[in-house]
Amino acid sequence: MLEVKGLCKYFGGIRAVDDCTFTAEEGQITALIGPNGAGKTTAFNCVSRTMMPTRGEVWLDGRRIDRLRPHKITGMGLSRTFQISRNLADMTVLENVIAQAQVRGWRDLFRPAMSAAEIDKAMGILDFLGITRIAHEDGSNLSYGQKKLMDLAALLMSDPKIILLDEPAGGVNLSLLEEIIGHIRKLNEAGLTVLIVEHNMDLIMRLSHKVVVMAQGAIIAEGTPEEVRADPAVLDAYLGST
Ligand code: ATP
Repeated sequence: MLEVKGLCKYFGGIRAVDDCTFTAEEGQITALIGPNGAGKTTAFNCVSRTMMPTRGEVWLDGRRIDRLRPHKITGMGLSRTFQISRNLADMTVLENVIAQAQVRGWRDLFRPAMSAAEIDKAMGILDFLGITRIAHEDGSNLSYGQKKLMDLAALLMSDPKIILLDEPAGGVNLSLLEEIIGHIRKLNEAGLTVLIVEHNMDLIMRLSHKVVVMAQGAIIAEGTPEEVRADPAVLDAYLGST
């Protein structure tokens, strides 16, 4: 469903992503892992078109998307989260979820007023994530973990078919980690395809159907969690980076 072919992103002389080819199969959870600086976030940015690739192609459901504007890609069913929460100041969680979805291009026109349908939909998503109790709290007063869940809620407003999660477990405590793993599993079981960039190996090993390993801009291994864990090239890449 998501095909990345020969993707390259160069920053001057730095080859952040260099000729990467991989797929994220429909209905599966695919993880993109690798040591710091491997190029994971840059690859993610190019796939979601937050960044323009230097070269290469990205295809979604048989349509080439690497030249499309980000909101068009969202409209085709691909949405992403960011490492840093996109919390908008002076808004409640409910308003944040709706406004973020509007800014993402779920609607073509930015319209700050919330319709009854938008409120219903957002409340349904907050309920799905078990956070209706914070719907009317100021977004800026949330804990780190609550902000992560709010961002996930905003992502779901666009009715995505595939979600790209950038370090969903980054900086979270153990109980929130379990909650986040549960949500990702539930979303996948509900039919969503998932592509995750993550450092937390526990999450990767428990959730992923397929793991793609990057190091120094290139893909060095691909397979089931068990396969990549036993791959000497992967062990070398991680040990070499410490
Ligand atoms: P981490 O796990 O630490 O987030 P990563 O695998 O996501 O790392 P990237 O953030 O994609 O790696 O970075 C890959 C390489 O590209 C690094 O050498 C980084 O310094 C470089 N890089 C990333 N963004 C830029 C930029 N805007 N300008 C110049 N170099 C960049």
